[in-house]
Amino acid sequence: MANPSLLILAGDGIGPEVMAEVKKIIGWFGTKRGITFDVSEDLVGGCAYDKHGTPLHDDTMAKAQEVDAVLLGAVGGPQYDNLDFSVKPERGLLRLRKEMDLYSNLRPAQCFDALADFSSLKKEVVAGLDIVIVRELTSGVYFGEPRGIFTEGNERVGINTQRYTESEIARVARSAFELARRRNNKVCSMEKANVMESGILWRQVVQEVHDREYPDVQLSHMYADAGAMQLCRWPKQFDVIVTDNLFGDLLSDAAAMLTGSLGMLPSASLGAPMANGRPKALYEPVHGSAPDIAGQGKANPIACILSFAMALRYSFDLGDEAKRVEAAVEKVLADGVRTADLMGPEGGTPVSTSQMGDAILAA
Ligand code: ATP
Ligand code: MG
Repeated sequence: MANPSLLILAGDGIGPEVMAEVKKIIGWFGTKRGITFDVSEDLVGGCAYDKHGTPLHDDTMAKAQEVDAVLLGAVGGPQYDNLDFSVKPERGLLRLRKEMDLYSNLRPAQCFDALADFSSLKKEVVAGLDIVIVRELTSGVYFGEPRGIFTEGNERVGINTQRYTESEIARVARSAFELARRRNNKVCSMEKANVMESGILWRQVVQEVHDREYPDVQLSHMYADAGAMQLCRWPKQFDVIVTDNLFGDLLSDAAAMLTGSLGMLPSASLGAPMANGRPKALYEPVHGSAPDIAGQGKANPIACILSFAMALRYSFDLGDEAKRVEAAVEKVLADGVRTADLMGPEGGTPVSTSQMGDAILAA
């Protein structure tokens, strides 16, 4: 069988710095675990613009469509702020998402015990937390037509349209149920079926897909406002949450803050299943290019490393290997190894990006 293939797009700012640590781990898998990835590397974002005059070259786009998974660092930086909208670094990422049709955005909120004090909530509420929010990413109120600012009589009116088709709901629901089967077989779907037509349809379709295709998964429904409250009150009651684009945007940011630093948070964006049965996929840390610390060896590589762990699990069917990576991160944190973003007010001496990567590799 062919080696699993991976396209690395390190991008701008701290992207290449954190990706260098992932590459060490990829190398380790080859020499120590006999798992060799066919890795290719290319440009995205500002660095691609500098070389090609576009934030994503057509050849790179074509490569992304062929590989088993794309791993992305970060794009953008102040030197690109004044570029024309059509060639902004972020457009490279948007094109990848759009052309790969990545409709399902997975944002885990996982709290490592050693960092539980970092949360804004009580330690017992977050310690051991491990949930995933699945956000619909390509439809809903951010895309629905009509949209715009119009004039009605003698005043202006701003309009967005919340719109979901049955098939758009069904495909993201499937993605959540598939995820649940790999985890703890439990999904909570969130909408506002009490006040929104799209919410009524959302609830119906999720229930139908469940009854027809995933009756083994435990499904519950919750209004998104109540869900937001429950997420802060007792997040461990959830396992997989599936919700629409708007609610997912809010809920996943809220959930992220349950766990601590931006430097810890991975994500996956998944599309339709490919010939091998695995979804099209792009993995990236939640954080951006962090221009304020770029080039200084201060960036925390854990978000990017955990994004690679997600790729092991969801694109390469290597869940046990993903656990090895996560356990190594857990151990290093328990040992007290901290990059600067993970230092509390009590202070201490932070390690560099590459020291953190080396510690995880050793663990
Ligand atoms: P973008 O628009 O690309 O999302 P942003 O300015 O919203 O960028 P980030 O680039 O993620 O957000 O940076 C936000 C803050 O978090 C910055 O102060 C940055 O230094 C810090 N930060 C982000 N990622 C990391 C990381 N991996 N390690 C340490 N600090 C980080
Ligand atoms: Mg941002």
